Amino acid sequence: MGWLMRKHGLSIDNLLSVDIVTADGRFLVASESENADLFWGLRGGGGNFGVVTSFEFRLHPLGPLVMLCAPMYPAAIGGSVLRAWRDFMGGAPEDLGSAFLFWSIPAHPFFPPALHGQPTVIPVAVYAGNVAEGERLVQPLRGLGTPLIDLSGPIPWTAVQSMFDPFLPKGDFHYYWKSLYLDGLGDEVVDHLVKCADSRPSPNSFVILLQFGGAMSRVKPEDTAFGRRDMPYLLELDSTWPDPKNSQRNIAWTRQMWADTQRYSTGGLYLNFPGLGEEGERLVRSAVGSANYEQLVALKNRYDPTNLFRVNLNIAPTA
Ligand SMILES: Cc1cc2nc3c(=O)[nH]c(=O)nc-3n(C[C@H](O)[C@H](O)[C@H](O)COP(=O)(O)OP(=O)(O)OC[C@H]3O[C@@H](n4cnc5c(N)ncnc54)[C@H](O)[C@@H]3O)c2cc1C
Repeated sequence: MGWLMRKHGLSIDNLLSVDIVTADGRFLVASESENADLFWGLRGGGGNFGVVTSFEFRLHPLGPLVMLCAPMYPAAIGGSVLRAWRDFMGGAPEDLGSAFLFWSIPAHPFFPPALHGQPTVIPVAVYAGNVAEGERLVQPLRGLGTPLIDLSGPIPWTAVQSMFDPFLPKGDFHYYWKSLYLDGLGDEVVDHLVKCADSRPSPNSFVILLQFGGAMSRVKPEDTAFGRRDMPYLLELDSTWPDPKNSQRNIAWTRQMWADTQRYSTGGLYLNFPGLGEEGERLVRSAVGSANYEQLVALKNRYDPTNLFRVNLNIAPTA
């Protein structure tokens, strides 16, 4: 999932073929026309079926510059900014990829010291078309209040893709990220999310909404193992904290918020944000759907009946 999914679909929707070594040591090609059952399972079934050694991918022209919209508003007006983002994105073109972030500005030299530690909300959007057109289009998102800072402007696509790297350094933080599809973003859900974000035990944690729709949602649930794509939003509870002494508190908070938010969801989540995957089969089944899950088990029985590939979100064979 990324900024381009509304325009070009999910990454797996642009996968054309893979070379894969299966559990019995065979070297296979999987695509729509060769070992199509395996190709279906690889697009959503994780690392359950083999080791992919290369892949062929459909590319699209882009950039080099794209328009980034990133006004950072004070969290005190989070509810009204989130409502405005919801309404704006409801009519936005598919060229516009967007996410809504609750965060606190980190004590990083990138930001002016006066802003360090300030809770913020950010309606981030990336326009994957003509830059001037994008700049005009996102203007309403930049006038929803007085931003603490506004990082909007034309920017190389490659810079957008590494924009968060300095704030999520490997090794310096502990992470526990869970996700959940939301059925909608009515005012009650908005109020719930604002409260949820306010109660984050760590200022480094993100609460993020990803806007779905467009090309990614036109692929049928049974066409890839990924499952349903008809939900309007994905909620991420991205708990991030520096001190291991606080692990229990942050994990407990995430689990509590995940449980409290289930009432706004008909189920399902993104398997790349599974926490520790501690719910096992129940989690995978809820993500891909029961029909796809049964088909994945049949595929597992065929390609990995001894469950060699099991250090993952496992699909256990029954053979
Ligand atoms: C900071 C951060 C930001 C993120 N942001 C996004 C985002 O914006 N959008 C998004 O979609 N996701 C996001 N993710 C989730 C990310 O997509 C997953 O973590 C992704 O699976 C990472 O792939 P990896 O190869 O690095 O990880 P790994 O853990 O190595 O692999 C992930 C899975 O693929 C399997 N696998 C790995 N290599 C192979 C192989 N050669 N053959 C077969 N199976 C293999 C593994 O067994 C495992 O099941 C983010 C994660 C982090 C940590």
